[in-house]
Amino acid sequence: MTPCSARGIHNHRSQATVATKTVGVGTLFQLPLGTSLKRKALVPAESPAAKQPLLELLSSQESEVPSLGSEEDPTYHPSTSKLDDISEREPTQPQHTVKYLVYEDCLLDLFRICPTCSSVCKVRTFVKGTFLSVTQTCSHEFCEFSRKWNSQPLLRSTPAGNLQLSAAVYFTGSSFIQTNKVLNAMNVRTFSRMSHRNHVHQYIEASVLHKWRLHQAGLLEGLKQKQRVSLGGDMRADSPGHCAKYGSYTMMDLNTNKIVDTQLVQSNEVKSSVHMEKEGLIRSLKYLSKAGVKVDYLVTDRHNQVQKYMREEKPTITHYYDVWHLCKAFTKKLVAMAKLKECVKVKLWKQSVKNHLYWSASGSSSGEETVAKWTSVINHITNVHVHDNPHFPKCLHPPSTDKNKWLKPAIH
Ligand SMILES: [Zn+2]
Ligand SMILES: [Zn+2]
Repeated sequence: MTPCSARGIHNHRSQATVATKTVGVGTLFQLPLGTSLKRKALVPAESPAAKQPLLELLSSQESEVPSLGSEEDPTYHPSTSKLDDISEREPTQPQHTVKYLVYEDCLLDLFRICPTCSSVCKVRTFVKGTFLSVTQTCSHEFCEFSRKWNSQPLLRSTPAGNLQLSAAVYFTGSSFIQTNKVLNAMNVRTFSRMSHRNHVHQYIEASVLHKWRLHQAGLLEGLKQKQRVSLGGDMRADSPGHCAKYGSYTMMDLNTNKIVDTQLVQSNEVKSSVHMEKEGLIRSLKYLSKAGVKVDYLVTDRHNQVQKYMREEKPTITHYYDVWHLCKAFTKKLVAMAKLKECVKVKLWKQSVKNHLYWSASGSSSGEETVAKWTSVINHITNVHVHDNPHFPKCLHPPSTDKNKWLKPAIH
């Protein structure tokens, strides 16, 4: 008898306990996570077999049915157990259906005997990736019983499970090669990388694009109603430096932190890869303007061409620099200065000046206040803590006892 034969299940069913385990299952075009995977235990918890460790059970010839629901199984969670009556369940869509790992022997056992005359049947199988089709024909000369069973629903001619595995790998940012390695190590049937690529090209990318366009249309409709839209824009290239081939320019709505547009630029569309950033920005602003979005201000890095373009071509949009990039450039200057013989004390100030820049940018309620706070650092480093600017008349820190850190102001 095989470990999970029909008879074995039957003998213990009256006392069976049921365990549930929650796993994240990605679905094809909608991705509800946390779908429940329910699993039936086949042995009563108090049976002697249930008390045995799993490894012993695997090597034991006497034990007919492994204890799947016992406390020795580390994946068994009694607190989440519930009895699952599937007899009156509504049929579900392929992406919502719970899937199981089924062993070939256990499955084919179900087709061995004819359900009408109990004769032995002829069983033929057809495999396509993770899909299995079984044709059962009764071999008794007077019995005409024959049936075909599919392990998965078919979406036209594509098995749903194959497409969903590709989609799950793609949507979770996983690697198909790695996933395939894991499944092959368990001897689970899968499909080739070529098939995965076909799924991605033919269905998955198209559906991602379709979903994004719908989502984006909703976002832009919302932005259209607003008078003042604030955006942040930056480009990400496929390789660092000046030899990138592709760049994607992304625009984010700074009020909601949602991406509202992305534009792909290929380096041969412009003079060279350094011109991709400006081109991405131009395309994105054009697209948003066409959609009726009125941009009030834009935050970017300190890219030279972008600075020039915003100054000359888009004077109606206020242009700000992202504080992280500003800080990075400023710190570079401080580090260079600290290397000079007469400026060694600058090194002591590097971190606090950096912190002060972030604090000025993030902890102010107006542009004037930000500037006042930031410029006060010139006084502060020379031990002067009251300032002429009414937006920040004096420092907020307690008096310092460290006399050595102050710098001498230059005499003009
Ligand atoms: Zn028959
Ligand atoms: Zn101060």
